Amino acid sequence: MSRTASESDPLVRVENLRKYYNNDSGLLGGLTMDSEFPFVRRESSYVKAVENVNFDIHKGETLGLVGESGCGKSTLARTVLRLLDATDGSIYFKGTDLTELDGEELRRTRKDMQMIFQDPQSSLDPRMKVGPIVEEPMKAHGMLDPEGREARAKELLEKVGLDPQHYNRYPHAFSGGQRQRVNLARALSVNPDFIVCDEPVSALDVSIQAQVLNTMQELQDEFNLTYLFIAHDLSVIRHISDRVAVMYLGQVVELADKEELFENPQHPYTQALLDAIPAPDPRATDRRTVLRGDVPSPINPPSGCRFRTRCQKLIQPEAYDLAEDEWRRVVEFQRAVKRRNFEEREPSAVRSRFLDDVDLRGEAGRIVTDAIDHIAADRFDEAEALLTESFADQSICAKKEPMYEVAPELAGDRHVVACHLHRED
Ligand code: SF4
Repeated sequence: MSRTASESDPLVRVENLRKYYNNDSGLLGGLTMDSEFPFVRRESSYVKAVENVNFDIHKGETLGLVGESGCGKSTLARTVLRLLDATDGSIYFKGTDLTELDGEELRRTRKDMQMIFQDPQSSLDPRMKVGPIVEEPMKAHGMLDPEGREARAKELLEKVGLDPQHYNRYPHAFSGGQRQRVNLARALSVNPDFIVCDEPVSALDVSIQAQVLNTMQELQDEFNLTYLFIAHDLSVIRHISDRVAVMYLGQVVELADKEELFENPQHPYTQALLDAIPAPDPRATDRRTVLRGDVPSPINPPSGCRFRTRCQKLIQPEAYDLAEDEWRRVVEFQRAVKRRNFEEREPSAVRSRFLDDVDLRGEAGRIVTDAIDHIAADRFDEAEALLTESFADQSICAKKEPMYEVAPELAGDRHVVACHLHRED
């Protein structure tokens, strides 16, 4: 896993990468009803699956990419390999921008970049024997003659921990872990520099996962491979990665050396993910952050920081001067109104639920009182609009996209964190 390239010479460099999907599919896709003639209008909407992503990967390194399912990890991986076309941005591989390649040039470059998928069962053709499966990419790229390909396939089967005598077996004769080893041999057959591994051990038993991960690390050392390793499981990411990028709703929100990220996380989302790992001692009470609420739609993501609708540390707007505890209560109240989470609507009941023993003064106090009156009159839309416009939308977290670099405390050269808590006032 040692780096053989300098900091300024990464194998892969991703710059300002965007991948949007048009959401106007289907017969009525993109049509919106209107009250005036012609009563329908067309409005395009886009799923912003990957938004302004930047990272480097150095030769021989493993960059782990982690985040909740649906956060855009797989779309990002496929876009980096040009299996999907980027909407905007650049992907440099050995200094060449892949977004500018097509045809034969792209096909030739693809030989050096391979991918391993999550499901080892469905990524192997059940009608083919594993020998020809491993030889397939070599054949497609015109490598070696038939005897040479067979010899290389057998050699690779052995390298990934399988018996070369199994060359003539069908995939169904192998276990899940063994099938993923066949996938590894196939990816290695064309001698790639870079392999994108998309949840390669998620479908395997925990006991098998470590064995496959260890084999991948041995192969990386032997062939000086570079991995982009995607997983939702933080323990897998910790096992295999040199550096880790944390992704939320299409964006990388934190990127640092593995030890730095796990021991000194700086983004509230990373802290919440780490705090969600089951503690060895269930009575342990030192958890810092809880991840609540749903992930917003990537069609209409929140402005500024995309995590702000779930963040427990949303920054108070400058216009107010509330104590920390008072501000947290206002945020809780606003989010409960958004969710319409009220059984009791009487002002005294609402006040005692959210503002018990807190006496909000000044402008903030007046706004909260007005919102409580709206709730009592069943005017939730008005209450929500008032609170959102007065508080959440006024936070710097809503107004500006964050991206800061902080000094690493434990390891690594860079620690990037997309959170305004690190802004310099
Ligand atoms: S920028 Fe604001 S909302 Fe986003 S993570 Fe930081 S504190 Fe939370």
